[in-house]
Amino acid sequence: MIDVNLLQRFDKPGPRYTSYPPAPIFSPTYTEKLFEVDLIRNNDENYDPISLYVHIPFCDTLCYFCGCTTMVTNNRSHIQRYVSALKKEIEHTAQYINKNRRVVQMHWGGGTPTFLEPNEIEVLAAFFHSHFTFRDDAEISIEIDPRGLTYEHFLALKKSGFNRISLGVQDFTEDVQRAVNRVQPEHITRQAMDWAYSVGIRNINIDLIYGLPLQTVESFQTTLDKIVELSPNRIAVFNFAYVPWMKPHQKLIHPEDMPSAETKLALLKSTIETLTNAGYEYIGMDHFAKPSDEMTVAQKEKTLHRNFQGYSTKANTDLFAFGMSSISHFGTVYAQNEKTLAEYSEAVENNRFATSVGYRMTNDDTIRKEVIMRLMCDLELSKREIEERFRISFDEYFSDALQQLEEFVLLGLIRNSYDKITIEGAGRFILRNIAMCFDAYLNKTSKQKPLYSRTV
Ligand code: SF4
Repeated sequence: MIDVNLLQRFDKPGPRYTSYPPAPIFSPTYTEKLFEVDLIRNNDENYDPISLYVHIPFCDTLCYFCGCTTMVTNNRSHIQRYVSALKKEIEHTAQYINKNRRVVQMHWGGGTPTFLEPNEIEVLAAFFHSHFTFRDDAEISIEIDPRGLTYEHFLALKKSGFNRISLGVQDFTEDVQRAVNRVQPEHITRQAMDWAYSVGIRNINIDLIYGLPLQTVESFQTTLDKIVELSPNRIAVFNFAYVPWMKPHQKLIHPEDMPSAETKLALLKSTIETLTNAGYEYIGMDHFAKPSDEMTVAQKEKTLHRNFQGYSTKANTDLFAFGMSSISHFGTVYAQNEKTLAEYSEAVENNRFATSVGYRMTNDDTIRKEVIMRLMCDLELSKREIEERFRISFDEYFSDALQQLEEFVLLGLIRNSYDKITIEGAGRFILRNIAMCFDAYLNKTSKQKPLYSRTV
């Protein structure tokens, strides 16, 4: 049983740690010139595998809950210009990447990547394949909005090598869908899954959101039951990040429709209980997977990893990202592209990198990143491994963090022994709060305007 009162006391703003340091630390003093220097340095004599990410920022309509970098348009010429810009960026960047390096993972996110026409998907995927060397077993995944999809999209995805899809569902309840301006009848979600299976794409993630306006425990239970019946390999149930001060379109949601903090916790509780009773394993940070899924296996084998897409089974890769607002992370470098279409296009059309902000990690960042990553992925941390790898005395180096962790220890959410930190019981549901104890930037960033969504 989950003690919701216990979780409630940890409900406060915090980063999701898809990177460390978190993105608000990235700085405009990191320029495209530095990016070029770092790319060259990273690829010299480097044979490590790589991941690719491409951001397709267009959508048909705006979902009021959206937290992504997106542009609502039905002007196809914007899309064509963007795809041409992407090809320029891929061509330009690929010259710097060691050709012996193999792509083990590629992800298309958005926006709505399937807003591209089937032939545009094929052309762009072929362009990636002609500029990078893919491993035969590479995971190639894409985010899908079932609205406006055709069977031809699935044929194009299959032909282009996609082998995993993420279907955005959020909630099957009609009132909730209307309140967030995303009306998506259940039958089109089922149709999308059928089409995926029929072309041979069998790895399916379904994304839900809890904490949306008008959601009740009963209505969301109906959605959960239907999802369990659909039986995808992975289910992500995201906590709605209600941050209208950062995403002004969220002001279109009627505040009086928002569920109370108690209802949100009850939604979280019923989600965890329903999915775990149905046989899904709780991985952490809103993610559930079947016991046989690669993600569950990777967690057991301690090879799970976290990147800008959330959890990933491909550890130790360098990530090169394309498109507006996308973030590359290789070696100890983060570099984010321009966040507006005009600035991004202007840069790449002139054969420049579109770097807008970035960051070179310090040694302290690298140590803290590893600690946070291991806790969030493995749910335990070997102090000895950190000591050996970074030549520090763990308890001395992290004396402040260990002091903050005391509260979690006293509540039985963490065990802090001589050589290990282990997350226990309900501690799994507040991983962000536990990671925050090791974050050296939190006090600096939280003194400015609120930057993060709430943790529970
Ligand atoms: S489809 Fe996705 S990216 Fe587009 S507005 Fe809706 S939530 Fe945002």
